[in-house]
Amino acid sequence: MSDKTIFKKIIDKEIPAQVVYEDELCLAFRDVAPQAPTHVLVIPKTTELKSLDDVTPQTEALIGHIFGVIQRLARELGLAEDGYRVVSNCGENACQTVPHLHFHLLGGRGFAWPPG
Ligand code: 5GP
Repeated sequence: MSDKTIFKKIIDKEIPAQVVYEDELCLAFRDVAPQAPTHVLVIPKTTELKSLDDVTPQTEALIGHIFGVIQRLARELGLAEDGYRVVSNCGENACQTVPHLHFHLLGGRGFAWPPG
């Protein structure tokens, strides 16, 4: 039986996703249950990082790369002018449901603060 997460299956093209960006290090695709008019998930291709809590000095360059991708996507998707939110739910209290590091890029509407 496969112990791949749903995101690893998307990386391996075993299940479909609306991919908006891909390179050798990361993948960005539209969330299946969008919480905003634009809701994209940006994930590293490595399965070594289950959450932000697993980031180490050795993986900081990867995280920096991902944030560069997020910034470019926000611009390309037309979110930069009005603003956008980037979220990474880490662990149970934050309601993380998929144990593969991911960043939510949300835009196209206003957001409240503090978050729920
Ligand atoms: P988390 O709750 O872990 O921060 O975020 C996981 C996200 O993955 C959720 O927003 C959820 O809608 C999304 N998601 C779960 N399964 C799938 C799927 O099969 N395809 C896509 N595109 N997104 C998914």
